[in-house]
Amino acid sequence: MKIVVLKFGGTSVGTIDRIKKVAKIITSYLKKKYKVIVISSAMSGKTNDLIKKSNNISNNFNPEEYDALLASGEQISCALIAGRLNHIGYKSRSWMSWQIPILSEGRHSSSRIIYINKSNIINYLKSGGIPIITGFQGVNNNNRIETLGRGGSDASAIMCAKFFNAKKCIIYTDVEGVYTTDPKILKKAKKIKIISYEEMLEMASLGAKVMQPISIQDARLNRINIDVKSSFINKKGTLITKRKNIIRNRIITGITSTKNDAKVTLVGVRDKPGVAASVFKPLSKNSINVDMVVQNISANGKETDLTFTIKAEDLYKTQKLIKKNMKIRFRSLIVDKKVSKVSIIGVGMITTPGVTYRMFQTLANHGINILVISTSEIKISVLINKKNINKAVKALHKEFKLNN
Ligand code: ASP
Ligand code: MG
Repeated sequence: MKIVVLKFGGTSVGTIDRIKKVAKIITSYLKKKYKVIVISSAMSGKTNDLIKKSNNISNNFNPEEYDALLASGEQISCALIAGRLNHIGYKSRSWMSWQIPILSEGRHSSSRIIYINKSNIINYLKSGGIPIITGFQGVNNNNRIETLGRGGSDASAIMCAKFFNAKKCIIYTDVEGVYTTDPKILKKAKKIKIISYEEMLEMASLGAKVMQPISIQDARLNRINIDVKSSFINKKGTLITKRKNIIRNRIITGITSTKNDAKVTLVGVRDKPGVAASVFKPLSKNSINVDMVVQNISANGKETDLTFTIKAEDLYKTQKLIKKNMKIRFRSLIVDKKVSKVSIIGVGMITTPGVTYRMFQTLANHGINILVISTSEIKISVLINKKNINKAVKALHKEFKLNN
């Protein structure tokens, strides 16, 4: 069976007109002799609206009910798509995760799909039907609905592609694909034709909001090729695939920037073993994600400065945790919310010397001061003053020849 998995994001099914358009896209694949499995998100805004409602009921809403509530948005869009397909003469029906079932495991609101029972869907496909499956949800071994984290219908699509051994997995969204940088920041941003899982994972984790980061990890582990394209216009999108499939001469594939970072510096911390661990333990216990870390070498061997970055929304909590932490001593605490992380990403840097230098020199040429640096095999990130984001992105985009 030649199966294609088509996933539609919230804006793609955001209005009745768009749902009608989606139905047309779906049937175009039938004409190409594909068996089509559809995964849909909730209509745009729906999930946020449900979250708001739960907050208005209780600021400590029951986690099981929270997932039951949030998963309901997908039921609506799937029924509407199936209803439209029926209307234009096709056999189609909606499938909730528990009807298939799609089994999930883990914590409520951030569960993972562990197994999909194929027989119901395969029989339905064989009978000529088009299954419209709810993204973002699974059912656990207590028979309760679970959700897969925000943006989780991407993970549903990837896992369906894996279990049903699909020939193609296409993510339909409201942008034309993945761009070299955010087109809202830089008009010259270019659509990337082909990108590796590793690069895409970095791009998504660093703020390119095209796909749920963890779903790209699923795709990488299972070697699923993903096509990202627009449901609004029919144009070639971006292919996310394994590195081996990419022949390219670019060093840098993309540039990202964050908007909501905060920098925390502990000045004059005692320089002795275990200090860093004592600082970060309470943060990790409170699920505060620490991103970049630097510790200065102490001049006198007794004291050091420790700087790290977190999400701005965690700043207040972090300050409180540090102040009441009796295990550490320091002279003062400095925080800065006006910072942003700009990163260049590309597997090409593994084999190309001098990329770090070129990045730093470019920023220097534009008078941009670097506050913190962190690197990985395929990424270099710098923390800079927020007001310089656009300038930095523009300069780096040009330096690494992404404009053409
Ligand atoms: N509707 C869910 C959300 O808004 C899942 C998704 O869009 O992928 O997060
Ligand atoms: Mg989405």
